[in-house]
Amino acid sequence: MTKRRVSILGATGSIGQNTIDLIARDPDHYDVVALTGARNIGQLARDAIKLNADIAVTAHDDLLDDLRAALAGSGVQAAAGQAALDEAAARPADWVMSAIVGAAGLAPGMAALAQGATLALANKESLVCAGALIKATAATHGARILPVDSEHSAVFQALIGENIAAVERIIITASGGAFRDWPIADLANASLAQASSHPNWDMGQRITIDSASMFNKAMELIETREFFEVSPSQIETVVHPESMIHALVGFNDGALMAHVGPPDMRHAIGFALHWPTRKTLPVARLDLVQIGALTFRAPDETRWPALRLAREVMERGGMAGAVFNAAKEIALDGFIGGHIQFTQMADIVAVVLDTANRDGGALNASHIDATMTLDNVREVNHLARKAAQAAIKNRAG
Ligand code: NDP
Repeated sequence: MTKRRVSILGATGSIGQNTIDLIARDPDHYDVVALTGARNIGQLARDAIKLNADIAVTAHDDLLDDLRAALAGSGVQAAAGQAALDEAAARPADWVMSAIVGAAGLAPGMAALAQGATLALANKESLVCAGALIKATAATHGARILPVDSEHSAVFQALIGENIAAVERIIITASGGAFRDWPIADLANASLAQASSHPNWDMGQRITIDSASMFNKAMELIETREFFEVSPSQIETVVHPESMIHALVGFNDGALMAHVGPPDMRHAIGFALHWPTRKTLPVARLDLVQIGALTFRAPDETRWPALRLAREVMERGGMAGAVFNAAKEIALDGFIGGHIQFTQMADIVAVVLDTANRDGGALNASHIDATMTLDNVREVNHLARKAAQAAIKNRAG
């Protein structure tokens, strides 16, 4: 039996651990090439030894000695730093999970595509910041991108055997996150602990807070536009507190295909792992009678201004997504660090987008409209982060 060569970028995170859970259940089918992480050296080393990976890489140079020590005698190679991450992603593999958090996931994902691997894409920032670039890289190298975000996996599955030209609309559902039922006036005082607890999903802290603010959903709307290449006006959001329907696709004959499943990322990860076949997965089977009812609400852009900002970004195009993401990452750092209130995250992103749409400043419209290359995305990312830091200073000061 030929084993599939797999690598997992962001192996120590929530998506990475769920991916390892699936692979470790079926070790005879996989040859693990590379596992990468950042600060969680103990987990990275344990998994690399358990899965007999060729190499384990931490993003941080200063943690290389710790990683070496943790891997001593195991035969697993250790490496550190950004270049080592890119090199690990470029090692020949059939399937690579892209699950690094943030814009840091873009370059390793591109390296995986450039060696022709199928890229299972969880890292939202890749499509949001550089959709055209990563699609072009995949096309040039004959590589395939499979969505892992549950909403996009759902749309992808609903589209199997369908013609995209017959699609009228794509509806992305949103749980509404931690504050969906809070009075809007209380949101400004939401604490970090309150924002870090999700009613339905067990995920990393950053994405959990982004769910409460709906910046996560905003990213997904932009991803939908990039992945399925439909117009912004065809993409809708609906609040669905039960998180059972992940997305729906509406066709020109009035049919609405919904993907229904338990809130367990191993479904979307497993679908991408086994695509184009389906294999048994260890996820709960839904008992519809017990669930009883599924409910839906209109998304309120006063409560969740991130949705309005996403629409602005989709309409603007170019590298507006990179500006949006960079500003969002810094605003999120600002909230986590206690420098700004929960509701100020959207204010910061709006200010930076506004700056980037004007002419003349350090970050300006010419950056958004420049050719999308990795260097230009990095430049926009850098400038937008600086602009967001300045905006936070203004608010805090
Ligand atoms: P986590 O925060 O749980 O994990 C992030 C991973 O990235 C960890 O392995 C972490 O290493 C690593 N990492 C952190 N910073 C860097 C860096 N600068 N360079 C390289 N590696 C780094 O995130 P999630 O697993 O929740 O999410 C991963 C991606 O998938 C995100 O883009 C998220 O939006 C997306 N996603 C997540 C979903 C979920 O259910 N969690 C659902 C859909 C999409 P370490 O832990 O060792 O520090």
